[in-house]
Amino acid sequence: MSTLEEIVSALTDGKVIGTASHVNPDGDSVGSLLGLAMTLRGLGKKVYVSLPDPVAFPPQYNFLPGSDLLITREDFGDDLEVFVALDCSNAERLGPLREKAGKARTTINIDHHEDNSLYASLNLVKEKASSTAELVFKIIKAAGWGMSPEVATCLYTGVLTDTGRFQHRNTSPRTFIIASELARAGADIFQVVKEVYENQSLSYTRLLGLALQRTQILEEHGLIYSYITRKDIEETGAILAETEDLIDHLRAVRGTRLVALFKELEDGRVRVSLRSRDGCEVGPIARGMGGGGHAMAAGYTSDSDIEGSIEDLVGVLRDAR
Ligand code: AMP
Ligand code: MN
Ligand code: MN
Repeated sequence: MSTLEEIVSALTDGKVIGTASHVNPDGDSVGSLLGLAMTLRGLGKKVYVSLPDPVAFPPQYNFLPGSDLLITREDFGDDLEVFVALDCSNAERLGPLREKAGKARTTINIDHHEDNSLYASLNLVKEKASSTAELVFKIIKAAGWGMSPEVATCLYTGVLTDTGRFQHRNTSPRTFIIASELARAGADIFQVVKEVYENQSLSYTRLLGLALQRTQILEEHGLIYSYITRKDIEETGAILAETEDLIDHLRAVRGTRLVALFKELEDGRVRVSLRSRDGCEVGPIARGMGGGGHAMAAGYTSDSDIEGSIEDLVGVLRDAR
């Protein structure tokens, strides 16, 4: 594992730096990416910033300072010396941008997933960190680069969303200290809440209603689940990228241990999000299905349809009993 100093030194040496984060972006991937990219820009470096699938950018993060830096893969140059992957447990999470990492002399992996495969030349992976944004905060602090209010807002968004507003098990006393330092650096903590949690579309609100209405519980497995079809998306006019927090409504139901949300993708495959309640670890289940994630929050993509995906998951739970 690399030290903060080694990461700082590699970033200091690089004049052209590529940065990217994972497919299906969330608040931590986008926040840590833009926070680091803006900081490096402020140091006078040429920085390429991209996400594997810009089309699926969650609209609730459009307000983030620096989101104008995001470029497409076509505009991402090949002249980079350093490539930084943020919040990616393995190189496949970079999607087609993985090819850009191959152009760099030095690759850096900054992440907090316990199943990280340490795929880069420098790996800063801390599974106890609340978020990747927390690690970017530590890098900036160790380097003494200074923290603008804009960068603080991005990093605060990462910490806030990955901890489920300081409610998940990855929240520690240290998380509050970092949040406090980010607020002191000028993070707009009220704007973040307003944009991320209180700016949902009517279309998504109706989709939420549909998904909650069809919730099922399989008592023998302690499983609560629901699903979203392409038809639901078409009929409500919502977009899948808005549905990141839908699963939290299911997690709030008592008497369950395991939460699953099945989302039908445009190509017919199904993205499965898993969340745990009461100590049932979902990371190993997701890995067994070809995905990954944390103990409390994990996911995978299934080649079956929704019905088949539900059956497959129930089969795994039955075998595990
Ligand atoms: P999601 O349910 O999509 O919000 O994902 C929850 C957690 O699982 C996040 O920490 C993701 O990084 C991780 N995750 C989801 N899908 C995958 C996958 N296919 N491979 C590895 N990790 C994943
Ligand atoms: Mn993430
Ligand atoms: Mn994260």
